[in-house]
Amino acid sequence: MSMHGAAANYVIEPAAIPALPIAGSDRMFPVRRVYCVGRNYAAHAIEMGHDPDKEPPFFFQKNPDNLNTTGEFPYPPASNDVHHEIEMMVALKSGGRDIDLGRALDCVYGYGVALDMTRRDLQAKAKDMGRPWEIGKAFEASAPCTPLVSASEIGHPDHGAIWLDVNGERRQSGDLNQMIWKVPEMISYLSGLFTLTAGDVILSGTPSGVAAVQRGDVLKGHIDGIGDLEVRVV
Ligand code: MN
Repeated sequence: MSMHGAAANYVIEPAAIPALPIAGSDRMFPVRRVYCVGRNYAAHAIEMGHDPDKEPPFFFQKNPDNLNTTGEFPYPPASNDVHHEIEMMVALKSGGRDIDLGRALDCVYGYGVALDMTRRDLQAKAKDMGRPWEIGKAFEASAPCTPLVSASEIGHPDHGAIWLDVNGERRQSGDLNQMIWKVPEMISYLSGLFTLTAGDVILSGTPSGVAAVQRGDVLKGHIDGIGDLEVRVV
């Protein structure tokens, strides 16, 4: 695929480029791809029935236009078991292939707080049948998130609380230092599988305590040093 901008002679109107706001700014971060890490916190791997010592984390993807900064999560069709997964979001300003661990953080533009919303019933069926996860993971508005904060302002958080409250009750709680793959490892490992570029976003996995949401629920997520996310299920 080639991109020729507004002058290109497209046969249909091209879709808007998905983009994330930058906190405290009117500038935007254009998103190319969204990678997600599965089972990156041991306690969550165990609650999902897996042994983190035998099965390392892995990647799947959401669609760039699934990112959702509206503050509302529309309950999706075809599921009765939609789960919250609070996650740190990492946005890249550069990329490459086979990126060394020692320079991986140089690729990071900034960070945000995100939810990897999951149609758990459809994901479970896909797992049972050996099918891909897209219908469980990559549906409309499935990644509610905050604007980005730049690493030049906050540095590179590698420890600190990550939690999610639903209707005022703590559901998920962990610490960034519990991640099995730290941010440099995610970037380095991913760059051995794909060519990373500026605009790529990584959702870095969720601590334990995932559970179902209902319409009307208010989800409040927090990551120390990054910020707060509030989302209503509608
Ligand atoms: Mn997740």
